[in-house]
Amino acid sequence: MKKLFIQTYGCQMNLADSEEMAAHLFTRGYMPTEQLEEADLVLVNTCTVRDHAEHRALSFLGRLRQWKREKSGRRIIFAGCAAQRLGQQLKKTFPYLDIVSGAREIDQFAQLLDKSGFLSDAPGGQPVQKGITGYVTIMRGCDFACSYCIVPTVRGPVKCLPSAEILQQAAKKASQGYPEIMLLGQTVNAWHEDGKTFADLLNEVSALPGVARVRFVSPHPAFITPQFLDGIKSNTKIARHIHLPAQSGSSKVLQEMKRGYTREILLDKIHALKQIGFSISTDLIVGFPTETQEDFEQTLSLVEQAGFSAAYCFKYSPRQGTPAAEMKLLDEKILEQRLDILLNKVRGLAEAAYQQQMGRTVEVLLETPNKGRTGEDFWIQTQKSYTVGSVVQTEVTASDGTLLFTRD
Ligand code: SF4
Repeated sequence: MKKLFIQTYGCQMNLADSEEMAAHLFTRGYMPTEQLEEADLVLVNTCTVRDHAEHRALSFLGRLRQWKREKSGRRIIFAGCAAQRLGQQLKKTFPYLDIVSGAREIDQFAQLLDKSGFLSDAPGGQPVQKGITGYVTIMRGCDFACSYCIVPTVRGPVKCLPSAEILQQAAKKASQGYPEIMLLGQTVNAWHEDGKTFADLLNEVSALPGVARVRFVSPHPAFITPQFLDGIKSNTKIARHIHLPAQSGSSKVLQEMKRGYTREILLDKIHALKQIGFSISTDLIVGFPTETQEDFEQTLSLVEQAGFSAAYCFKYSPRQGTPAAEMKLLDEKILEQRLDILLNKVRGLAEAAYQQQMGRTVEVLLETPNKGRTGEDFWIQTQKSYTVGSVVQTEVTASDGTLLFTRD
């Protein structure tokens, strides 16, 4: 049987897309391998959000030249966002590439394989099941136009998948033994269908047999509305953690980033989420071209006011093809200094958030016999052992800043 090696760069959506593409290859006679050397086919699924991610994928592709020469019949598929951005011109630089399949063409991936004769003569394999989370893509693309972001250009406008298809996928994952379902989309909470909201969808997925918990990523603050919160607040199967990208604490910079909200609006939404028990992590960018020292200090004060459970901090880096890439960059030294200061500021957030869980009764979804995650996304270790995938209620009695502990 021919063997498939998958190299995925980027976000969870890319992991889900790799799974989807791999499923087509498995039905065409391939089986998975984790060893590049024994593979007959390599699927490289790429990311282009940052220059760095694209470079890593291209440099891996460069190394595959030698891999392909070593054994005849080997093939390479280059897919995802960088494939979409760079297109067929990739074949000029990398003539040994067999298929280029952009992120927007995932629906036509099967036809692309059939046209290229990617068939093996043996029956296909099955992926090895890992973890307790089943990923289900519910929408693709983005209708926003953040001035620093290449995603709308690469992924195109929002396209929501039908709820019937999503529910079928989620039910399949649950029946395969994934008690946690993660709904995915570039702006996941923009999902809608005639007469149905994202909150309705979350409730329907959580009611499927075998589903113990539902998460979603990546949400946009614009769709955190009172109606959404009302729609989910009584459903405890919807995890009480959200990764909500703030990007900046300055309303002026947020406007220049074209994020569509002000600091005040964002803080109101954060407050409303906390009222129904959400822990909130975030992304922050330092050194956007127009960011002054005062703007930067606004970001520091946002961190203080918002009470995030974690913050992932990035230095601004221009992405060719975006409006912000035309702006004059700040001095690299300023970027580095600001990043250092911000990293120091956010360093204690997780520890403090873990401490705040002390004494609470929490619901744990077990990922090993005695370790799991709470709905608020804190890791926890139990004294007793339980079945993997089951949910237990327990009291938090201790914390070491990265892990919670229970009495039983
Ligand atoms: S919301 Fe903004 S940052 Fe997020 S994918 Fe869309 S354009 Fe990019």
